[in-house]
Amino acid sequence: FDNSKKGIVEFKNVSFKYPDAEENILNNITFTAKPGETTAFIGSTGSGKSTLINLIPRFFDVTGGEILIDGANIKNVSKHELREKIGYVPQRGVLFSGTIDSNLRYGNIEASHDEIEKAARIAQATEFINSKPDKFDTEISQGGTNVSGGQKQRLSIARAIAKNPEVYIFDDSFSALDFKTDATLRKALKSETAESTVLIVAQRISTILNAEQIVVLDEGEVVGIGNHKEL
Ligand code: ATP
Repeated sequence: FDNSKKGIVEFKNVSFKYPDAEENILNNITFTAKPGETTAFIGSTGSGKSTLINLIPRFFDVTGGEILIDGANIKNVSKHELREKIGYVPQRGVLFSGTIDSNLRYGNIEASHDEIEKAARIAQATEFINSKPDKFDTEISQGGTNVSGGQKQRLSIARAIAKNPEVYIFDDSFSALDFKTDATLRKALKSETAESTVLIVAQRISTILNAEQIVVLDEGEVVGIGNHKEL
């Protein structure tokens, strides 16, 4: 990796087929996501949005074309080194057994308590954490049953922020949040991620309107790319 650049994500003619499938799910995907910008992926259900973003942390490898981060083909980068650069938030927040604090520092063990608190604040999680008797030391029960879906999502988002990654990937991670929390969170996140590359699978129109670049997918192909005025 060239450390002077920070998180430029380039797809060049990417195609992808799941190992056990017969047909490609993605074809000829080409775009560049830049630091300081949000790139939103939209398209109907099954169009391949989640599949596309899952290729970036190499949950699967491309079957054609290439993905570059700061000019380096990710297939030549170890998964460990690659994932250090990425804050990935899945559709449903994932928590591990342990305290809220240990859940938030999962990607950045050395984060200070201030950094953890700041990440929780940006993710709009401070209020509910502080409402628990043990606050950041609250134990998450097996399967995270003592937190709601929206709280789980906010903790997952806070975990990604605490990692301070170059590339953020949000797979429709704001869906369990009410509109007000969603808007406040994204505003706080915007200033925090001013220099990061943000990729987001979006359902809500407000997310799309705030993106610098929108990639429209249909049946695994890019059918439109630009900002909302251009599209
Ligand atoms: P949604 O908006 O519903 O989340 P999406 O645009 O994110 O949809 P994907 O989840 O990427 O779409 O799915 C694209 C296609 O890939 C679908 O036809 C789906 O059935 C298929 N698919 C997804 N995951 C796998 C997998 N692990 N193995 C095989 N096929 C899969």
